[in-house]
Amino acid sequence: MFIKYDGKKNILLNEPTIKDIEQAMNSSAERIKVLSDGKIFLEQDFVHTIIRSGARVFRIESRFVDKTGFKAMENILFSSYKNKSGQVKKAYVEAAIQVTPINLRNMGNIVRRICDINVDRVIFKVVNKEKMLTTTNDLKLMIDYCERQDKWSLTENIPLCIMDNYEYHVSEIYPHNSKKENKREECKDCFYKKECPGFEGMNVFPKKDGKPINQMQLDYQTK
Ligand code: SF4
Repeated sequence: MFIKYDGKKNILLNEPTIKDIEQAMNSSAERIKVLSDGKIFLEQDFVHTIIRSGARVFRIESRFVDKTGFKAMENILFSSYKNKSGQVKKAYVEAAIQVTPINLRNMGNIVRRICDINVDRVIFKVVNKEKMLTTTNDLKLMIDYCERQDKWSLTENIPLCIMDNYEYHVSEIYPHNSKKENKREECKDCFYKKECPGFEGMNVFPKKDGKPINQMQLDYQTK
C-alpha cells in the first residue's frame, strides 16, 4: 500500500509487500520508509528479501505487550546490506511505542529492552490524549534514559507547551514530520505558533495547562 507524503520525494509504505518495495524503488522517491506493527518481519527470509529489494528505513509501531515488535526489530537489525561503495550497513530502525496505560506501567522495561536491541531512534506516541498531562513527566524520564543510552528519542502528539525543556524532542517541530494544523485560540500568542501544529483533539486539553510560551521562556530554556 502506497502513502505519499510531502507531495514530493518521500514515500511511506504501510505493511508493504516485496512488490510495493520494488515499485517504490523504481519511482523517483528519495526516501522510502516502511511502517509496520512487526508481524510481517517475524520471518527472517522475508526480512532479507525486503532489505535486498532496497528497504533501508523501518518504523515498527507497537504496544510492545508481546514479543512481536522486539523480534521484528531484532530480525531487521540482524540483516545488513552493502551500499554503493561496497560498505556493509545495517538498516535504520525506529521503535514507536504507543503510550497506552498498559505500556506506561511497563515503560521502563520496554525502553530498556528497545535500547538493548540497539535501535536507532525511539518514538513515544501518545494515543490517549485525556491522559497526556499525567504522562508527560514519565515521558521526560524516559527521554533522559534514552539520552544516557545514547539514543535519540522523540514524542508524537504532545504539544510543545507541556514539554518545557524538552522542545527538541517534540517531533512536530521538524518540517518533515509536520501535520495539519489543529490549534486553540490561545495559540496565536504563542512564541512557537509557527513551529507547532498544535495537536489533534486540543479540545480535551484543559485551558489552564499548556499556556502559550513567550520569548523570555524560550531564551531561558535554550541557554
Ligand atoms: S500554545 Fe499552541 S502553539 Fe503554543 S505550543 Fe501549545 S499548542 Fe503549540
